[in-house]
Amino acid sequence: VINCGSSSLKYQLIDMANEDVMASGLVERIGIEGSKLTHKKDGEKFVTETEMKDHRVALKLVLDELLNKEHGAISDLKEINAVGHRVVHGGEKFNDSVVVDDKVLQEIKECFALAPLHNPANLMGIEAIQGLMPDVPNVVVFDTAFHQTMPEENYLYALPYEYYEKYKVRRYGFHGTSHNFVSKRAADMLGKKREDLRIITCHLGNGSSMAAVDHGKVIDTSMGLTPLEGVCMGTRCGDMDPAIVTFIMEKEGLSPKEMDNVMNKKSGVLALSGISSDFRDIEAEVGKNKRAEIALNQFANRVRKYIGAYATQMGGVDVIVFTAGVGENSVEMREQILSKLEFMGVKVDKEKNNVRGKEAIISTDDSKIIAMAIPTNEELMIARDTKRLTENK
Ligand code: AMP
Repeated sequence: VINCGSSSLKYQLIDMANEDVMASGLVERIGIEGSKLTHKKDGEKFVTETEMKDHRVALKLVLDELLNKEHGAISDLKEINAVGHRVVHGGEKFNDSVVVDDKVLQEIKECFALAPLHNPANLMGIEAIQGLMPDVPNVVVFDTAFHQTMPEENYLYALPYEYYEKYKVRRYGFHGTSHNFVSKRAADMLGKKREDLRIITCHLGNGSSMAAVDHGKVIDTSMGLTPLEGVCMGTRCGDMDPAIVTFIMEKEGLSPKEMDNVMNKKSGVLALSGISSDFRDIEAEVGKNKRAEIALNQFANRVRKYIGAYATQMGGVDVIVFTAGVGENSVEMREQILSKLEFMGVKVDKEKNNVRGKEAIISTDDSKIIAMAIPTNEELMIARDTKRLTENK
């Protein structure tokens, strides 16, 4: 499984017979001075520092590490049956993962304008693997695909319709692989079918998004045309009065690109707290720094706003799931969010909620709505889709 960013890539080799991770790793600073590959095998790390001018060079080194006699995981590349790739934006064309062919590559290119930072990097990864392993099928798994079930009334913006027709300006939503994985896992853990449940999934990390998964289908999600909309995040502003954009651009003389940078990189809990985009740093200042508390309170309130909104859209809610860095690990944030939802029928069990990075039901046995913490595993989801679409072929 490969997840390519513009200058980095993450990989995992997964044995689908038992879903075990055989090896994994991270390449940083591709195309920049100081390129570095960190390969992980059986809990040990192996670092290679050498020039990597592009993704193809980086992926060749990754394959060499997988084949390495001492700390590799395979003895022949033929042992790799398929490669799954994360692609951020699938536009309106893809509502599921697909096996890569020339048409798919072209369609990923057509989505460049919708995800200018991500899709070109994702494509580079696919093309590099095609060059290095020409006989192996590639599968792409889109962050947007799981959200394609949204109805028009939720994905259209109240803007002139021609912008949708001309530029495909609409809500797409992101983190779909994660919302899909944890909503399915929640149903499995409860011994129920996802099709029988109304689930709100809260992916709370550095980037955060919420989704209403109504009987197995997303009917609404908080991120929009881009990942900027929704709850406030580490460095992204999330929802705000859109008039602020032109107001600040005029006052500060900012170009569209500069304003985009402010909203994506300099806002969110970083801006509110004045401390950090990392929730651990902000939580450490509670009781000492008023702005740290404002940042965390605003974050909790925004998440709660969406929970309320989605519960009303689904006519109720059976399960609320927390995942990603903050959702999986911050006992305090989960409690803060849920503590005011008792009127809806959520009762937090303080002891059960005292878990980090583990699957757990965190509500009391008599809680009408079940609250859960479930670690996300986007790589495994990509691997499962890759297997589903390539086996028996
Ligand atoms: P992600 O984007 O899913 O990797 O999540 C990253 C975020 O998770 C960072 O902002 C971290 O501050 C946050 N995080 C990780 N561990 C904890 C923790 N124990 N308590 C609070 N936040 C955490």
